[in-house]
Amino acid sequence: MFPAATCKGKRIAVFGLARSGTATIEALRLGGAEVHGWDDSAPAVEKAKAQGLPIANLHELDFAALDALVLSPGVPLTHPEPHWTVLKARHAGIEVIGDTEIFAREAAAAGARIVGITGTNGKSTTTALTGHVLKQAGLDVDVGGNIGKAVFLLRQPVKGRVFVLELSSFQIDLMPGLAPDAGILTNITPDHLDRHGSMENYAAVKARMFARLGPGRTALCGVDDQWCAEIAEKAAATGADLRRVSVVRDLADGITAHDGVLRDKRQGRTAAEIDLRGMAALKGRHNWQNACMAYGAASALGVAPDRIAAAMAGFPGLAHRMQQVARAGTVSFVNDSKATNADAAEKALSSFENIYWIAGGIAKAGGIEPLRHLFGRVARSYLIGQSTEQFAATLGSTMPVEKCGTLEKAVAAAMRDARAGNRPGAVVLLSPACASFDQYPNFEVRGDAFVKAVSELPGIEMTIPGDAHAART
Ligand code: ADP
Repeated sequence: MFPAATCKGKRIAVFGLARSGTATIEALRLGGAEVHGWDDSAPAVEKAKAQGLPIANLHELDFAALDALVLSPGVPLTHPEPHWTVLKARHAGIEVIGDTEIFAREAAAAGARIVGITGTNGKSTTTALTGHVLKQAGLDVDVGGNIGKAVFLLRQPVKGRVFVLELSSFQIDLMPGLAPDAGILTNITPDHLDRHGSMENYAAVKARMFARLGPGRTALCGVDDQWCAEIAEKAAATGADLRRVSVVRDLADGITAHDGVLRDKRQGRTAAEIDLRGMAALKGRHNWQNACMAYGAASALGVAPDRIAAAMAGFPGLAHRMQQVARAGTVSFVNDSKATNADAAEKALSSFENIYWIAGGIAKAGGIEPLRHLFGRVARSYLIGQSTEQFAATLGSTMPVEKCGTLEKAVAAAMRDARAGNRPGAVVLLSPACASFDQYPNFEVRGDAFVKAVSELPGIEMTIPGDAHAART
């Protein structure tokens, strides 16, 4: 915890008393601001009072006497309708910002640097990979935001320190001054439209990652979807160093990896090449995109390509996202519990062959039908949870199917078959294509249960620590 010195003497209301909200209140108070915290949840208010935080009923407070409203990113700013505090703030003409905006102001004042990362998919992986590469290169780095710690729980911004921040569109919406030293936009596909109203609004929020960049700052923008391709053109107009990223085609100027080899090209000349194909934690085209982004950010901060390559090769991967957790002879075990829908499971199924696939839980609309074109990569499947009969019907006679019920039974059966099958590169893959709530509180607990079950198999060599807690990276 450190003081939010840029808010000294200001009068600020903070709505939302969860972890980031309470950390922000402490930081503002330490920085010399007058702070009023509030929440719609009475237990949250009572808890904050008991902690000695400054609480005031914002219904009764005159917002015209305030300088700003700090809103938790979980609270609707625009859709489905603005929260009542937002309406009050607009009426009073005060700014509505998030903790990440105040943090960015602190960073700018201190001379710290920010790498900002957003996009529909790949945010966490890109953030973790960028943080890993910069740390390995010896930079003073902290990682947080939408992943891991809230910004005011990170270390204090000081000159030269680099903050790698994952930013959700909700956080960006609350950052009118956003201007990272390197900004990353991975991709845009329909998501969270309930909170953004339309694709146009959603894309417009993501575009703000680059809107205030100028000379000396770097914009890393995917160009493989139409929304991002258009945003890239606008980013170029800001005068920032625009690096286009594609993993489906070659570019004369940009960072590409369509064949699994990352190429950094400027005006047709290749400045660096990194072969990503052997990197276990960066399997799949989607991860090549993440690698291109992390490469671009590290390169913008002055890290040499060979150091980036060495660091990437040692990236342990993020827990629950196509994470290799163990080996038994030639069989590997991969935890992709984060794949809670078919779209996410598709990434894993297309990254491996000879798959012993553990799937099931609470299916999303359409089930695993969209994955049919990948069934040929699967040797056998092991079904768990509520979706068992539905998935068994979809899989039909395309492969042998075993109805296992529990994850533990599925792991044991998959191990037995994978060893007996003796196929090259065989993978026991948990990529459920389902939510976990029928059997587990969330996908993390499901992934931890997979790791535990795998670690208890005979002849297993864990490639990450076997206990669930340590498995989180
Ligand atoms: P986010 O933080 O944006 O949710 P993650 O890095 O946690 O993204 O990845 C979540 C899932 O999204 C992964 O398991 C994978 O299936 C998919 N994914 C990761 N990176 C990408 C990408 N660049 N493009 C498309 N899908 C991706």
